[in-house]
Amino acid sequence: MKNKRYFPPKLLKNFLDVYSELIINNILGYSVKGLPIYELQIGFGKQKILMWSQMHGNETTTTKALFELVPWLLDSKQKSILSAFTFFIIPQLNPDGSKSYSRLNANQIDLNRDALKLTQPESQLLIQAYERITPDYALNLHGQRTIYGAGRNGGPSTISFLAPSADLERTITPARSSAMSAIAHIYKSLKKELPNGISRYDDTFNPNCVGDLFSKSGTPTILFEAGHFPGDYDREYSKKYIFESFKILFNYLLNNNATSGVNDYLNIPQNMKNFVDLIVSNVNITVNGMILENQQIAIQYIEELINGEIVFLPTLHSYGTYLNKLKSHRNIKLSGDDSNETLPFIKDKIIKNSKFYKLFSLDR
Ligand SMILES: [Zn+2]
Repeated sequence: MKNKRYFPPKLLKNFLDVYSELIINNILGYSVKGLPIYELQIGFGKQKILMWSQMHGNETTTTKALFELVPWLLDSKQKSILSAFTFFIIPQLNPDGSKSYSRLNANQIDLNRDALKLTQPESQLLIQAYERITPDYALNLHGQRTIYGAGRNGGPSTISFLAPSADLERTITPARSSAMSAIAHIYKSLKKELPNGISRYDDTFNPNCVGDLFSKSGTPTILFEAGHFPGDYDREYSKKYIFESFKILFNYLLNNNATSGVNDYLNIPQNMKNFVDLIVSNVNITVNGMILENQQIAIQYIEELINGEIVFLPTLHSYGTYLNKLKSHRNIKLSGDDSNETLPFIKDKIIKNSKFYKLFSLDR
């Protein structure tokens, strides 16, 4: 299965070349492997908004949403937004990971766990940009796997938000309160279009995460997570909803809405790990020489870059008589006849790849 998820530095450069005459583009510095890290500057307003994407190289949807946002901002109709705000956009903080389609940077470090130690050039550049800009708002742009659901009874989490905690007690500080209110407003505006597909992310405080650090420093910070929309492994829908969220947010900030939305935020369904990509029913499987009849197997795809394309490798998540705690994006029920034919294929694939499954347990 091929898809459009890959967004390497080369593609970014193509986008930047299109806008080279229209926006200020600085090179902040260089990645471990010497690739440039760009910062775009758009607008001339007093309020400063810092946005960064692809600090995890395999989370590409929000980067693509940024390249919907840029032409929209440059449109003369958005004059009021550009006179109120200056946008500082780092579209690809981790170009090495973006090239290799990896969450980690070239030193195998998760940049979103490096906020305190600052061992990596990419993390240092982000913090330097933050200190230089002193943003009024920080937007931390990510993507999440297909395993998330919007609450116990919701559908897949197509988009999730978080107003990161500023301390272990998860105190609602003034900065957090304004981020929560902004998220509540986005949620209210998008709910009609995307019912059962919006959630809020777990808010356990982790000072090694950049968002938590900025929140602690008093900057209202919003984490965006682009997730799965039914049937859309290219993530064109979540790209659209991330872009919608940007527009709603900037118009909201422009109107400087002072109403508190903290309670509305807390009522947004919580992100849950309750989905897998595929459940196959009516399968006979062999475990330690014993044949288990009429089982369900849950399969999760792992994305890998193979010859310049992202391919989905099926891995075994779990099996059982009835996987009632799991939802799936797709269900297949084998009939007696084709189970004989299909099973060796699935078995071959999933057993071979299931060792990968546990390695990928992180998001945000
Ligand atoms: Zn991420």
